Amino acid sequence: MYTDETHPVMCLLRERLRQNEKWGQQDHEPIVWMGILGEEFGELCLAVNETHFDNGPEARKKGGYENMRTEAVQVAAVAIQFIEALDRRYMVTK
Ligand SMILES: [Mg+2]
Repeated sequence: MYTDETHPVMCLLRERLRQNEKWGQQDHEPIVWMGILGEEFGELCLAVNETHFDNGPEARKKGGYENMRTEAVQVAAVAIQFIEALDRRYMVTK
């Protein structure tokens, strides 16, 4: 079903690298991460809503498989970034 290009984990890794190239290492407080992750989750919600509900042809362009998938990958990539930041901040290395 998947190729290396389309496998969700590969898409996640590409998005994670893209975010790092765009923003660099991000070492925010956890509460800031909630805002960032919440914003991305909100975009995913919008894509799902505009797929499910009929809010007219312009709104419909924000929905659909491609938009839902893109936003879901972005949510996952931000969650990974959050984990990385938590580890840098709190992980005790032995
Ligand atoms: Mg997004």
